[in-house]
Amino acid sequence: MSRTPYISKSKYLSGLQCPKLLWSAYKAKHLFPAVDSAQQAIFDQGHEVGSLAKKIFPNGIEIDCDPADFEGAIRLTKEKLALRRPIFEATFTANGGYARADILNPVGKDEWDIIEVKSTTSLKDVHIPDIAFQTWVFTEAGIKIRRCFLCHINNKFVRHGEIDPRKFFTLVDVTAEVAAISHELEEQVGQMGKIIRSTKCPEIQIGKQCDSPYTCPLHDHCWSFLPPKNVLELYDDKKGRGWDLLKRGILRITDIPDDYPLSTKQEIQRTTALTGKPYVQRMQIQAFLKNLEYPLQYLDFETFSSAIPMFDGSRPYEQIPFQFSLHIVRKAGAKPEHRIFLAEGRNDPRAEFMRQLKSAVEPKGTILVFNAPFEKGRMKECAELLPVYKSWVSAVNNRIVDLLLPFRGFNFYHPDQCGSASMKLVLPALTGTDYTGLEIQEGGTASREFLRVTFGKVSAAERKRVRDALDKYCGQDTEGMVWILAALRAA
Ligand code: SF4
Repeated sequence: MSRTPYISKSKYLSGLQCPKLLWSAYKAKHLFPAVDSAQQAIFDQGHEVGSLAKKIFPNGIEIDCDPADFEGAIRLTKEKLALRRPIFEATFTANGGYARADILNPVGKDEWDIIEVKSTTSLKDVHIPDIAFQTWVFTEAGIKIRRCFLCHINNKFVRHGEIDPRKFFTLVDVTAEVAAISHELEEQVGQMGKIIRSTKCPEIQIGKQCDSPYTCPLHDHCWSFLPPKNVLELYDDKKGRGWDLLKRGILRITDIPDDYPLSTKQEIQRTTALTGKPYVQRMQIQAFLKNLEYPLQYLDFETFSSAIPMFDGSRPYEQIPFQFSLHIVRKAGAKPEHRIFLAEGRNDPRAEFMRQLKSAVEPKGTILVFNAPFEKGRMKECAELLPVYKSWVSAVNNRIVDLLLPFRGFNFYHPDQCGSASMKLVLPALTGTDYTGLEIQEGGTASREFLRVTFGKVSAAERKRVRDALDKYCGQDTEGMVWILAALRAA
């Protein structure tokens, strides 16, 4: 008879999220999508942050084994314990559980502190069972754990030269929180063992657990039975009406009974799904259009961010603008002029970005953006770094109008927006144009590709190819706004 596989920390957390997810991780691995470039970037970032945290313990010993060789890792960990030095990736198994600790730090004569390193900037609820699982396995394996810590990124940190890891991280003592749930572990792991030994997948309906605490990797698989324009697309559904309707067997928005209570915006969704025609509040749209002044300027930024700040004067995860696109329409019916900036080289792009932006933006006229807090926020941060732009940014921000507002306010709603006011759904719904023909189709890919061809080792031809694709993508965002405004005028 084959032995029950160990339950690792990640599988344990999967099991807490959903028994079906846990079972599938052992019995239906083929359902899991391959790691994509966005997830790989998160893993890589996690490794970088983990390596920086280890520098807090310069005399630490790494348990450097192949990740699949956990017997080897356990053997090596046991050998190193006697040295009483910090151990990175210390590994143990006990009671069916298998855990590695980022840092196991010796204290006193024979005790240890467990330190879990995370790339977040605060303690999250999910970190407690994460650390509790490791602590339980280690304790069951005979290791005396004194205290448990979460080591997360200090969100007040600002880079000035070489990064001091002691200032970059914040250590939070979570011993009491871990102790409060540690009695649940044995029972939970026992139950999970039963699930993974079963040949039958647990019958679990989709629910809020599919996106909490993480978006489940089987999301697309489990949710594939939902038809287009389904009840889970109801706008701003804080009251959980979509889940309630689903429980009643109602899948389509068009099948929601007339007397079912919906919010005003959800009612608009229902009506437009039934008629197939957009909902238009002409007076509100006219009022929005009346406030716009020529030359109209349609502006969009692309940014990147990193957990470990790359440049002096930047914070963890600060959005660094590296590209803008600006379409200018001087008068009604005029052909849009296009101005674009894409940073060159490996230096901090913000100074050149601001210089170019200031010379590209016209001294008067409305500046249209889609989701104004983003562009306003980036300009404000740049002005804090480069105070010479403070008064200009403040004047420009007063001229910004958010093209998102008529859509978020449901002054215009097209049934193909599927309950979303995002540009990626508004643009095709209104104009029939989407991003599918473009090599780069969304902002996350744009930043990863920019970082790859700017800081990675790539050929000149590859760099040029990606930079052309970036120009097209950012240009489409602003040209798309020109088309959206035209569609609003015609509505
Ligand atoms: S998508 Fe939802 S129901 Fe399906 S495995 Fe994931 S959490 Fe469970």
